[in-house]
Amino acid sequence: MRKFGVQSIMDYSVESDSLQNIEEKAASEIVCEKKILKITENEFDKIIKIFLKCVDTVANATKREGFAAIKLTALGRPQLFTKYSEMIVQLQTFFKAITGSTDNDIFLNKISKEEFLKRLEEFQIKIDNQIFEDWFKMLDTDEDGFIDYYDWEALLNEKKELIQMFTSFNVRTGKVEPLIQQFTEIEEQEFSNMMDRLLHLADYAKSAGVGIMIDAEQTYYQPAISRIVIDLMKKYNQDSCQIMNTYQAYLKKTLSTIEHDLRLSQRENFYFGCKLVRGAYMEEESKRAADRGYENPINPSYEATNEMYNKCLERIIKEHHNETNKNKISVMVASHNEESIRKAIQILKDEVIAPSENVIYFAQLYGMCDQISFSLGQAGYPAFKYVPYGPVEEVLPYLSRRALENGSMLQNLAKERKLLWKELKRRLLSGQIIHRVPIA
Ligand SMILES: Cc1cc2nc3c(=O)[nH]c(=O)nc-3n(C[C@H](O)[C@H](O)[C@H](O)COP(=O)(O)OP(=O)(O)OC[C@H]3O[C@@H](n4cnc5c(N)ncnc54)[C@H](O)[C@@H]3O)c2cc1C
Repeated sequence: MRKFGVQSIMDYSVESDSLQNIEEKAASEIVCEKKILKITENEFDKIIKIFLKCVDTVANATKREGFAAIKLTALGRPQLFTKYSEMIVQLQTFFKAITGSTDNDIFLNKISKEEFLKRLEEFQIKIDNQIFEDWFKMLDTDEDGFIDYYDWEALLNEKKELIQMFTSFNVRTGKVEPLIQQFTEIEEQEFSNMMDRLLHLADYAKSAGVGIMIDAEQTYYQPAISRIVIDLMKKYNQDSCQIMNTYQAYLKKTLSTIEHDLRLSQRENFYFGCKLVRGAYMEEESKRAADRGYENPINPSYEATNEMYNKCLERIIKEHHNETNKNKISVMVASHNEESIRKAIQILKDEVIAPSENVIYFAQLYGMCDQISFSLGQAGYPAFKYVPYGPVEEVLPYLSRRALENGSMLQNLAKERKLLWKELKRRLLSGQIIHRVPIA
């Protein structure tokens, strides 16, 4: 692949379903929660060792220019991600209710102390006045007399215990309860272990000159994943794009999520790295939403997803020209869709951005759309292949899902086969059986 200017991204392809099995197995053998924790944590410690080896492989193979892709749910119990995601969503919902915001303008709105107290009273949310005064002062870091969404989000970090202040009467349980749920002591420990593993991996990758690309997963894990990746970007993306997040264009909310994260990168001065995909869990997401009776998070049609993909790409590239974020933006067009790739190339031309500036990367899955990856690589664009690896029994569920999700890819495979035959015929007729890569 290197000969054709194509680099690889090693993707440890374990599904969270396989990890759930680990936990179920542990639970069926031993009932004590602490022992279950020990077993699951041992498994995650084994997985982190595989990731570290992967970083070594990437460092050796790519001469400090490659990426390792990881699924965060491989480093901690999936339920932990679900619960953390719920906490984030509850926090967002609370802020939206207090400020009257929507998903699209949540990060534009702010609220004064007086207004906040008034809204709490309207919602019959109890809070001690003096505690509220101190709390407001602590969150209002720029001391402008307002709390915006970025101040508010800090509640999940160092100011976690402050969340418990907001309580209200739960009609169902008949008790006064915190509005935002908390981790139990054991979950707190698990979360901290998971973060330790992740930070160890990120430090190791940084010293090896390897970038980390975090995969996007299902919406019930994704708020937690995004939040953790943003924290990693703040820490590791101070002078380059070492950590990349993944954004799924099939979600209705994606453009506003990108807007939020770009503004945060300006505000906190870090490099913004984004892998842009359409999204791989469409059927599962739609089914889950229908079964549980909430709004389907997926765009209503393929065309709407394509439109979202283009809008996200354009928005990110616009940021490249923003003075504060100039040269601090990278986006990977991770797609087999020829239209998206053509559009990205056109944007580079229109905006006069050289391929070597690494503002836009391209990536396809290993063994799929090779005609695209190899042409891009030979033309001097930063082209990558996602190479799945891992124990066969754990990689198989991943591969079978990719095959199912990429049903449309079968058309591409037919096209690829046609192109291969055409190339074979050309070589036979021209007597050039072995293709030599032209020197750039
Ligand atoms: C390098 C690489 C890395 C990837 N990493 C991730 C990842 O981290 N997380 C992840 O979730 N996926 C990931 N994917 C998979 C990706 O999200 C897509 O499932 C896959 O690439 C197919 O989309 P496409 O853009 O290549 O092609 P296309 O065939 O143009 O698009 C198919 C996609 O369009 C969307 N779509 C299809 N029909 C509809 C409809 N009726 N309504 C709304 N949307 C629709 C779906 O997302 C579907 O997968 C990755 C793909 C690549 C190439």
